[in-house]
Amino acid sequence: MNSNSQLNHSPAANMTRKVVVNGIEFGGSAFSVIAGPCSIESETHLLETGCAVKKAGASILRGGIWKMRTSSDSFQGIGDEALEFLPRALRTLEMGIISEITDIRQIEVLAPLVCAYQVGSRNMHNYDLLKELGRQNKPVLLKRGFGSLIDEWIKAAGYVEKGGNPNIMLCERGIRTFEKATRNTLDINAVVFAKKNSPYPVIVDPSHAVGISALVSDVAMAAAAAGADGLIIEVHARPDLAKSDGDQALNFEQFDSLMKRLEKILPALDRKLTHA
Ligand code: PEP
Ligand code: MN
Repeated sequence: MNSNSQLNHSPAANMTRKVVVNGIEFGGSAFSVIAGPCSIESETHLLETGCAVKKAGASILRGGIWKMRTSSDSFQGIGDEALEFLPRALRTLEMGIISEITDIRQIEVLAPLVCAYQVGSRNMHNYDLLKELGRQNKPVLLKRGFGSLIDEWIKAAGYVEKGGNPNIMLCERGIRTFEKATRNTLDINAVVFAKKNSPYPVIVDPSHAVGISALVSDVAMAAAAAGADGLIIEVHARPDLAKSDGDQALNFEQFDSLMKRLEKILPALDRKLTHA
């Protein structure tokens, strides 16, 4: 027997729960796009990127403050420095931001700033963090571990849910396979499977999945066609100068053109792009 068939098929299976993040809906007929830099580099950088992605049709901003990098020598994010200007920048942009939480001790400072907590791929199995986020009243975007089974991913969401927080979105961000041509391999099966076998909205991160900016838009379109409830995309004014993940960042023009392509196909999928 395939181990996946042992997943708990609750009566609610097939029914995606609606999760509302700062007034933006995920999981219904809406299709919502989260976009922004991999890492927040400065206030000016965030404002410039936020303006561009909002104008192109993104409804929520993304941006890392404390980064979980594979190498300790890589840029680790600007950290506490961002906490000072974030409220001001978000007020100017009139947008909410989703940012990665890497430690329970960050909840206190992040809570007043972010509209949802992002749990990164490397922390999907950090059950203490998940339990604590279950006690919070903000949505959680749970990225799939790059080496984790779909079953483990959905069960990880259970740790947040058991704590009393039902506002969970799953994010497929590519898994590690034998393939080296792309950074990771987007598991489209996982998107479809999780939509049918969990109550959670599923969004896709084509940036980390493919890792090559020239391929991100086509992969994003495939995710929408597969039934994803939204996307999270890395965008940078000058990808060649980005402090992290520049290889996979769309520039403003590329992001704008992706949004235009999405607007064209979404009606055929009975979806409507959310505007901030
Ligand atoms: C990110 O979103 O910048 C990130 C680090 O993603 P992941 O946890 O999927 O690697
Ligand atoms: Mn990144």
